[in-house]
Amino acid sequence: MSKAVRTTCPYCGVGCGLVVEKGGSETWVIKGDPVHPSNTGRLCSKGTALGETIAGDGCSLSPSLDGKAIGWEQALDLAAHRFRETIDRHGPDSVAFYVSGQLLTEDYYVANKLMKGFIGSGNIDTNSRLCMSSSVAGHKRAFGSDTVPGCYEDFELAELIVLTGSNTAWCHPVLYRRIAQAKENNPALKVVVIDPRQTATCEIADLHLQLKPGSDSLLFSGLLNYLERNQAINHAFVESHTEGMEESLQQAQWYAPSARAVAELCGLAEDDLLRFYRWYLTREQVVTLYSQGINQSSSGTDKVNAIINCHLLTGRIGRPGMGPFSITGQPNAMGGREVGALCNQLACHMDIENSSHRELVGRFWNTQNLAAEPGLTAVDLFRAVEAGEVKALWIMATNPAVSIPDGEQVRRALAKCEFVVVSDCVRETDTSSYADLFLPAQGWGEKDGTVTNSERTISRQRRFLSTRGDARPDWWILSRVAQHMGYPGFDYSAPSEIFNEYARLSGFENGGQRDFDISGLAGLSQQEYDSLAPLQWPVTSTAGKGTRRLFGDGRFFTPSGRGRFIPVIPRAPGEALSVSYPLVLNTGRVRDQWHTMTRTGRSARLFGHDSEPFAEIHPYDAEANGLDDGELVTVSSRLGRVVVRARLSEGQSRGTLFVPMHWNDQFASKATVDSLVNPALDPISGQPEFKHTPVTIHPYRPAWHGFLLTRERVILEHASYWAKAKREGLWHYELAGEEVAENWSDLAKELLLSASDQSQWGEMMDRAAGYYRGVSVVDGMLQSCLFIGPDHRLPKRDWLVRLFARPQLTRAERMRLLAGVPGNAQEDAGKTVCACFGVGRNTLIQGIREDGLTSTDAIGERLKAGTNCGSCLSEIKTLIAGQISDSDTQDRGTVRQTAPYVDDPILLPADNVGSGLPHREAD
Ligand code: SF4
Repeated sequence: MSKAVRTTCPYCGVGCGLVVEKGGSETWVIKGDPVHPSNTGRLCSKGTALGETIAGDGCSLSPSLDGKAIGWEQALDLAAHRFRETIDRHGPDSVAFYVSGQLLTEDYYVANKLMKGFIGSGNIDTNSRLCMSSSVAGHKRAFGSDTVPGCYEDFELAELIVLTGSNTAWCHPVLYRRIAQAKENNPALKVVVIDPRQTATCEIADLHLQLKPGSDSLLFSGLLNYLERNQAINHAFVESHTEGMEESLQQAQWYAPSARAVAELCGLAEDDLLRFYRWYLTREQVVTLYSQGINQSSSGTDKVNAIINCHLLTGRIGRPGMGPFSITGQPNAMGGREVGALCNQLACHMDIENSSHRELVGRFWNTQNLAAEPGLTAVDLFRAVEAGEVKALWIMATNPAVSIPDGEQVRRALAKCEFVVVSDCVRETDTSSYADLFLPAQGWGEKDGTVTNSERTISRQRRFLSTRGDARPDWWILSRVAQHMGYPGFDYSAPSEIFNEYARLSGFENGGQRDFDISGLAGLSQQEYDSLAPLQWPVTSTAGKGTRRLFGDGRFFTPSGRGRFIPVIPRAPGEALSVSYPLVLNTGRVRDQWHTMTRTGRSARLFGHDSEPFAEIHPYDAEANGLDDGELVTVSSRLGRVVVRARLSEGQSRGTLFVPMHWNDQFASKATVDSLVNPALDPISGQPEFKHTPVTIHPYRPAWHGFLLTRERVILEHASYWAKAKREGLWHYELAGEEVAENWSDLAKELLLSASDQSQWGEMMDRAAGYYRGVSVVDGMLQSCLFIGPDHRLPKRDWLVRLFARPQLTRAERMRLLAGVPGNAQEDAGKTVCACFGVGRNTLIQGIREDGLTSTDAIGERLKAGTNCGSCLSEIKTLIAGQISDSDTQDRGTVRQTAPYVDDPILLPADNVGSGLPHREAD
């Protein structure tokens, strides 16, 4: 590739544009696209590190049957034969596809056409079910269509932005930067964060409402009631363009009679709640942004409608600077919604339960076999697999063994299923280990197509990499299997042909009745498709350049053409707390990881911020359960348990804890948190309740703790707990175990030294106290180190990790290796805050305290931190604000007073580390 390629980020629903250029022979320079309307050149830490994640997982990518490589013809034939045979014997509902927001729209379209159009079953569901199906259902109830009415520009035009159930700073960082910039430009702009956790997003909040988990519907019902009582009804809009207001108001008055009652039930100060209500009352331009904190609930759809009701009442929708705004998690979750990859939809926002839509789509696809009813939603699908009702399952570009609630049930289902096909761009995942047939799919950078972001912008993902191994695009694999099954209408030779068919269907007998219409893009030539610039749907003959906002004319897509108020009855979460499980588990994302880490887990710098799975726990709950900061903790629900690192945080509400969703069997021994999650479903959307699972916590105190830093990957057999992270030039393992080794020195040598090793090996041991430390140095460079102790109080790792980057250790550094902490005169940057420039917490604290760097500009100028993607700016601002806990100030690494300590470690040649090695034992 010689010239720059414009494409789109494969991570979140912000949908940032990228410019990719070739660097060295195997390297790529990836920058934000300055002309893409969604990010105008900005990127977050994940987008910035994309170039480091391009290399494959090292496994050969060819189709394989039971782990043995086979050719494509055999693989396609086998998939077609097994699906055909199962359908013939047990009917179309005995097979299913489980697909993903990582697929491109063209892939999605073909998958949906094959399953719903020709196999004749509704059994195709997407992992977007897990993140935003409540928004889809809420939109359809209120608008008659799954429409996001506004655009990102509305955040810049708003007078009040309400961020509810969204840690925007970490989950949609570029959008957060746009909001932060808007607030800087317009200090009158108010930002309210509604979240049970104090997150990084709160850094720009004028008001944080730290409500009780699950009480959002009540809060917005209270707002509806308050607005009505304070004469905020937009009568002209409500009377001309809506229906159902009275009933909704009655419900709100009944369940949320006063601000005092609402404040008490939500666990808020009444004054704070009233301040929010007053701001909402007095500002016309209000945007309510919401995300998984609203959707991932057993009453998520009602929560969405409680939010929309307030916008309908005030007529604040469809005009600049206002509206309800659902923001999606995945890069193409919106595309999946558009093509009908949820089991209750048809393509182009048509409904499977609508007979005229079925007739229209069946006619367009020229099929007699269109599915007549919805299929199974994600959780129910895997239940049906375990029950033996679904006998052949094809999983595309997703990892349900990790990401679906009650993960053990999913694993049982996969183990039991008669025929499992997995197509993915990654060979080794928790799910692919269950595949009978593995089909290598092209990954990001290898494939071509379109995606749609949260503001309805369709952007091109363009190919710039040559294909690894024998991988193929998903649309190609699906089309060929369809052809092998004997179905017509799948003879596509390029994604542009699929896009054209899809665009034609969107306009087919539409006449303005359906919101999703991109008929203005039908008939694009290959060249026009290749150069397609980002634009927002609808794109029609009268709106050729796309559409910024919908509903500004007060016309909705319900049968009456009016927006619908939905009466909301606030409900408690699906499973109540109990004596056995008294705490609420909340799951979500961290700043620098993505989904199940299949891509971000390849970048060393993205592990700098969080290198180990953890549970954020309020200090009160930690103390009540006898837990120390930094200790290992077992988190158990009635479905399973995980072991993670305890991280005490005042930002966590008492009685709740937060565990990230990313870690899985590839990166930790027991940290797949969704295996704990209660599969309580929203009855309308089928979305699971990831934000509220009753759990209990206990300290996990094995016989020993340790960590290992090594340039070579190792196989760990001795540890009952491990977590693995890639760091710059090394692997970082956190360890713990039930059985103390007979001789740590022997074990260390076995693990870390090869026969030809020219290491200098230094070690010390205190058998009685249970300490061992060994370091190996080759040609003056640190090669590996193993630290073992009786508890978790071991030296902090960051200084040692940074020493691996030194081409030559200094004498002072070598002197301190076995201590694991730098001497007074030596630098310890501390935990990484700025992933882009590797700036640590201690460096920042020192800059603030000693050099007077008291603004982000001053820090950026001196240390560069925060000057690239800006994802760390909220953390830097918190540090500047002096919100540094006592423990932060001791981040130079602490070793227990009783720990062995050497001033002058002797580095011995590896040969000498045999039996009879003169261990340096502490006095
Ligand atoms: Fe990618 Fe970050 Fe933009 Fe999301 S905000 S699309 S992860 S660069």
